[in-house]
Amino acid sequence: MKYEKFCQSCGMPMSEETVLGTENDGGKSQTYCIYCYRNGAFTADVTMDQMIDFCVPHMVQANPQLTAQQAKENMGRFFPTLKRWKA
Ligand SMILES: [Zn+2]
Repeated sequence: MKYEKFCQSCGMPMSEETVLGTENDGGKSQTYCIYCYRNGAFTADVTMDQMIDFCVPHMVQANPQLTAQQAKENMGRFFPTLKRWKA
């Protein structure tokens, strides 16, 4: 199975251990993680900015050298490249 490198909604790195999202036929999504995508639909109807705000504390926790502001700026550059947010 070939995954996207990052969840194309929240930017979480995808690996063998990542719990993948599910399609409505029960298959695994190769594009989104389980937190973002279940049964063929996004779990939350949010804007990109709302998703970034939601992810900031997780990003800071995973990368303690970053401030919340830096994390937000990084994601502000990264998220527009993800499939879900691409215009
Ligand atoms: Zn995700």
